[in-house]
Amino acid sequence: MDTHDSIHTHILSNPSSNDLLVAARALQNGELVAIPTETVYGLGANGLDAEAMDKIYAAKGRPSDNPLILHVPSIDSIRPLVKAIPKTAYQLMETFWPGPLTITLPKSDLVPYRATGGLERVALRCPDHDICRQLLSLAGVPIAAPSANISGRPSPTTAQAVYEDMNGRILYIVDAGPCSIGVESTVVEVQEDAVIILRPGGITKEMLETVVSTVTYDKALSSDAKPKAPGMKYKHYAPDAPMTAFVGNAQDVAIAIDKYVHSLTRQQGEIVSHDFVHIAKACNVGYLLSKEVYEALQPTILTDVPVNCIHVYGHHGDAVSLAHDFYSALLSFNEAKVTHIIAEGVQPEGLGVAVMNRMEKASGGHIEYL
Ligand code: AMP
Ligand code: MG
Repeated sequence: MDTHDSIHTHILSNPSSNDLLVAARALQNGELVAIPTETVYGLGANGLDAEAMDKIYAAKGRPSDNPLILHVPSIDSIRPLVKAIPKTAYQLMETFWPGPLTITLPKSDLVPYRATGGLERVALRCPDHDICRQLLSLAGVPIAAPSANISGRPSPTTAQAVYEDMNGRILYIVDAGPCSIGVESTVVEVQEDAVIILRPGGITKEMLETVVSTVTYDKALSSDAKPKAPGMKYKHYAPDAPMTAFVGNAQDVAIAIDKYVHSLTRQQGEIVSHDFVHIAKACNVGYLLSKEVYEALQPTILTDVPVNCIHVYGHHGDAVSLAHDFYSALLSFNEAKVTHIIAEGVQPEGLGVAVMNRMEKASGGHIEYL
């Protein structure tokens, strides 16, 4: 957008301690800096400065009632930001911080409503990423940082992907290589000795249950109930092309995809033939698959599909690899300008719950459990 073109965006690759100091100063001065974390890249601003946070909403085109997460370098640094730290919340922090767990707690007066979308609770997280924590310590203020993408688009897991969306809109991108996890943090609300998961993420329900006996999902995750996490109501993570996903054993998924691709060719008015080269050319599909399903389809419908339209994430059912590769695969399909995306999902268990929550949104609910 031309309105943002006055800012020149620098990528700080292999950031030295001096680079981090420069980035920290920019944050203190109310500028935007994209920061690496273990989940996805964040679009950082001083979390105590309402005007600085306004810039986040403007750069992303983010709805103003969608609250931000404040990032801190340690448990101790949240004390001025909250009214109190309940025992259960403290236990969770001690167990899972630094890590992909965001906890909402009643905010102190120090935290502007701009950080919380007008809510009384503030969301807090300590990232498991050395460079990020060094930067947070140098900045000396909590850093508000939603994912560093334009709202609605897939989240960036590399500095290059941040640059694609944010060039001309922010001052610095701190490049620390690809994010290790690849999907956003788990967001929880702590109530006495129970925990409600508002958004599934890198810390699973099973992991939380090792610390707290009662862990439930917010009703809004599986129904149309009003979500406690306002951001969950918005369209998210969407690739440019419509996406359809399949979950099941590898053989069933391969059969279903083969059938689906034939139906796509028919819809496009092409003569149905068993000439697979013809099929690949007729529909410009991006495929996100496990090794097993890729191997099953390689001799048939994947013959002659260009390499930039195929992304193989790992073995069948490997939620960790799928989480790691998911957003970057969607972005590479955008670049390849595919007209359809076919993805193989995983069972919604463990980290699979977080990945399938993103896949559900990215596909507009077009997931077939076989
Ligand atoms: P993002 O940083 O883009 O992944 O978005 C942060 C998300 O955290 C929001 O969209 C909400 O879903 C959630 N969140 C942040 N603050 C709160 C809060 N005070 N209460 C409930 N959910 C929150
Ligand atoms: Mg986001």
